[in-house]
Amino acid sequence: MNRVDPKFKDKLKPYGISDWNECFHCGNCTAICSHSEDSLLMPRNGIRAIQLGLKDKIHNNVDPWLCYYCGDCSEECPRNANPGELMMALRRYLTTVYDWTGVSRIFYTSRTVMIAAFLIVAAAVVGIGAMYSFQLEPIMEFGHLFEKIAIISVAAFILLPNIIRMFRLTLIKQKIKVPLSTLLSGIADLVINMFTQKKTLDCKENRVRWFEHFILVLGYLLLLATTVFLNWFGTDNIYIIIFGYVVGAITFIVTFDFIIRRIRKKAEISKFSHLSDWMFVVWLFLMGLSTFLIRVFIDIGIIQDHLWLYLVHLIILAQWAVIIVPFGKWMHFLYRSFAIYIAEMKKKALSLKQQNQVTTITA
Ligand code: SF4
Ligand code: SF4
Repeated sequence: MNRVDPKFKDKLKPYGISDWNECFHCGNCTAICSHSEDSLLMPRNGIRAIQLGLKDKIHNNVDPWLCYYCGDCSEECPRNANPGELMMALRRYLTTVYDWTGVSRIFYTSRTVMIAAFLIVAAAVVGIGAMYSFQLEPIMEFGHLFEKIAIISVAAFILLPNIIRMFRLTLIKQKIKVPLSTLLSGIADLVINMFTQKKTLDCKENRVRWFEHFILVLGYLLLLATTVFLNWFGTDNIYIIIFGYVVGAITFIVTFDFIIRRIRKKAEISKFSHLSDWMFVVWLFLMGLSTFLIRVFIDIGIIQDHLWLYLVHLIILAQWAVIIVPFGKWMHFLYRSFAIYIAEMKKKALSLKQQNQVTTITA
């Protein structure tokens, strides 16, 4: 049963939208949305649930993740209700619903706490620098170890439990029974969707945006692999060095373009930027740029005199790893891919149920 929470709309304000009543349900947005189907009236279903205060319906549904924020619906809306951004706000909110620690909710609802967290992490890195008497080699060794520990810890203690929680809310709690063979058969598609986000291509005129996102995801993952597993800052292998330069450059050039678009606000998708959107692109840009510069400084032999650059990089990296990845917009990358998988599993479970009913009636 869906309980009504009359204050639900107010609780959503920190996530980017304050007025959910502009929509009068003309249906234009659903008609234009290329991801909308008979069983999935996007984005109107979600807006209706918010207006009625149907909190559980929002929690149990993956629909907001199936929106790729092309902005077509916002352009067509006669009430300027901005349905595309409403979906985005719901995704921010759902990020906090899946997070078992409750930390993302605190960060989304209090800028003061979030800024304090960024400052604490920065101070901790400077403290570690002092602990090693501001000697470059031991600090770099620490940084390299930190990257590995952060990846394993965040994956084990935040990402995995949150994904399980998402499954519990959207599939298990709904008592939707999906055979194990069906669950397994969807895994290949899950991985393909995660790394290609190919469903973005269903939105009209989205090819350039899809390509930029695709090479950014590729550049980011390869940069991570090059620095963490191939020890880019410590290697003498020329191929690894050149490879690192290429993927580092891709990361900061593409994110720089994203930042410029958000500043210009020309496209529908870039008109509204929540603090979490800014932090995601700016930190990704700073990570790509600082990683690139450190290797340049190593190659021209001046890194020993510029320890500050490595410390700045370590601060950005630590803030990214312990704040933005586990509790911020980075998680959208995972949740969207799993949402597509869950939506597909729900469809298959429904189809199997209908087939069984037909068989029973015929028998
Ligand atoms: S969001 Fe706008 S286009 Fe969509 S149903 Fe509401 S009023 Fe119509
Ligand atoms: S932003 Fe695009 S994908 Fe999202 S609901 Fe609107 S039309 Fe559909």
